[in-house]
Amino acid sequence: MDYIRCTRYRMSHSKENMGCTMSIAFNRRGFLAATASFAALHPFSANAVANQAHLRVMETTDLHMHIWPYDYYADRERDTMGLARAASIVREIRSEATNSVLYDNGDFLQGNPMGDYMAYERGMKDGDMHPIITALNTLEFDASTLGNHEFNYGLDFLMKSLVGANFPVISANVSKELGADPTSDVTLVPPYVVMDKEIVDGIGQTHQIRIGLIGFVPPQIMMWDRRHLEGNVHARDIVDAARAYVPVMKEQGADVIIALSHSGIGAARHAEFMGNASVPLAAIEGIDAVLSGHHHNVFPSATYAGRPAVDVTNGTIHGKPAVMAGFWGSHLGVIDLMLETSGGEWRVVGHSSEARPISKRNEDRSTTALVESDQAVLDSVADMHDATLAYVRRAVGKTSAPLHSYFALVADDPSVQIVSRAQVWYVTEMLKGTEFEGLPLLSAAAPFKAGGRGGPEYYTDVPVGDVAIKNVADLYLYPNTVRAVKVTGQQVKDWLERSAGIFNQVTPGKDGQLLLNPDFPSYNFDVIDGVQYKIDLSQPSRFNSRGELIASDSHRIVDLTYNGGPLDLEAEFVIATNNYRASGGGYFPGADGSTIVFEAPDTNRDVIVRYIVDQGTIDPAADANWTFKELPGTSVLFDTGPKSVDVVSDVKGVSIEPAGEGEDGFVRYRIDL
Ligand code: MN
Ligand code: MG
Repeated sequence: MDYIRCTRYRMSHSKENMGCTMSIAFNRRGFLAATASFAALHPFSANAVANQAHLRVMETTDLHMHIWPYDYYADRERDTMGLARAASIVREIRSEATNSVLYDNGDFLQGNPMGDYMAYERGMKDGDMHPIITALNTLEFDASTLGNHEFNYGLDFLMKSLVGANFPVISANVSKELGADPTSDVTLVPPYVVMDKEIVDGIGQTHQIRIGLIGFVPPQIMMWDRRHLEGNVHARDIVDAARAYVPVMKEQGADVIIALSHSGIGAARHAEFMGNASVPLAAIEGIDAVLSGHHHNVFPSATYAGRPAVDVTNGTIHGKPAVMAGFWGSHLGVIDLMLETSGGEWRVVGHSSEARPISKRNEDRSTTALVESDQAVLDSVADMHDATLAYVRRAVGKTSAPLHSYFALVADDPSVQIVSRAQVWYVTEMLKGTEFEGLPLLSAAAPFKAGGRGGPEYYTDVPVGDVAIKNVADLYLYPNTVRAVKVTGQQVKDWLERSAGIFNQVTPGKDGQLLLNPDFPSYNFDVIDGVQYKIDLSQPSRFNSRGELIASDSHRIVDLTYNGGPLDLEAEFVIATNNYRASGGGYFPGADGSTIVFEAPDTNRDVIVRYIVDQGTIDPAADANWTFKELPGTSVLFDTGPKSVDVVSDVKGVSIEPAGEGEDGFVRYRIDL
């Protein structure tokens, strides 16, 4: 139990005890019930006495342009996202709290089609208001820091976007000129701010308090956005910058210092230039609370259980209150501080923290909204919402070949090829100047929409011609982020062997055998682009669904070549993939998390959008780099969606003919091996 909710319990007896217990029970049932009960039973300011003030510190983080509860890729409403939803929690808290402040923790400018629309289509002219700034102004944010994604569209776009903000935007570790120490850097935006605030104590008396805020961003921005930043700005280590500035803020009279740490909760030990530095940051003397982010997780929550210096029960890091409010407006972070003044000095005498969700997931995986949208926030960007809808629905590029996935499991396929092309395009740039630059770069991608349990309509299908942003959601279903792993040739081969487990073993010389193992999900059928190979279906799968070697004599992958010669099993390769695969999803050999050499901040989907915008016209035609090994006199049956009839003639590298109807609305083909 946290300090503030139970203050009265500690001071008196059973009635308050009941209130405390009840409020927690209500809290578990959901936010609406909880606030109602708090307002009735637990007006927080009643807990403060003379010279004690209760301050509610609210955080949003990683909004990524999600203002309306709307998924522009899918072109539909969603209850799991949107500042407008979190705003309703802000209003509730403001209505019940005597003292409150509201900060954003960065990554506000980029991350959905509204952000791309502003950057790629509309642009920021002098005097323009950026919609996220409009929304933050509407909700009267008190301050914000910069996240790494603020730099995605370049410095000029960023600085023009910030002009309209009615609140300070701070960042202590990004500078235009490096000085001898952090405090003599010429920072891009103010490194910190000390804000005077009137605060009301437990008996209604007004006091002055000076709240110090200091902001941080992962120094990896210099790699992630090198093309925008190199030669223009410098990034310092987060902890180094904090150690230098916090004493200065204290000298300037900061009574309380809150770190706006756009940085995750990672290792406890400080390492130079660490990207997830919130734990060593919290240890710095003078910092009283840490607003965390960047990880897109929730703190306090079990996600961070068992980490050194992290207490998920009390919501603290190194004993300091901390919070991380999910992402896209999924939560509002709240840190409650009980402050006490004596002799003009303030100190924190109690605290608690929580992240309040805007929705809950039901047992059937559906979601239920826990709050309504705040109308003022919706209205403030209604015109930009409409403009974004028009943007996602109209062409941003063209494709010179149809993008479909009807045959993605039996032949090299355009819907998979385009993902690999975009991944290679992006990772090539990211690895420039690193030790991995010279290694052969391959790319792994799997068909996400390929029938199966999704049904006969569940396929990617974009005809030749215009490609709209909303089509990209169809090409890349999941909000994965890009990763690169370094593997051996042997691991490349075993990776493919694991993929080939999607096929049933076939008996040579027999007709009409079913090709696919229905229990093997298509998203685990990785095609690796950049190598050439054949799959021998007469062999048993070398690996089981847990990635365990079960047939050590079996090799389904044959004729594996790279650059025209046999693939060297001892050689090193880099494979572009996604965070799911790279960190062990699907149990692929060479992809257990230990081989990751590059962690991108960008989603695969964003990379595909950028690739299409960059290229104008894309040519996703598959290159038939993989085929089935010939097994004369053998045929297999394969079911796919009925619309496949329009494109079956495009399929390369496989002899395929219609074979009537399959089950449940699918159509059937016969493949002669
Ligand atoms: Mn983010
Ligand atoms: Mg290919």
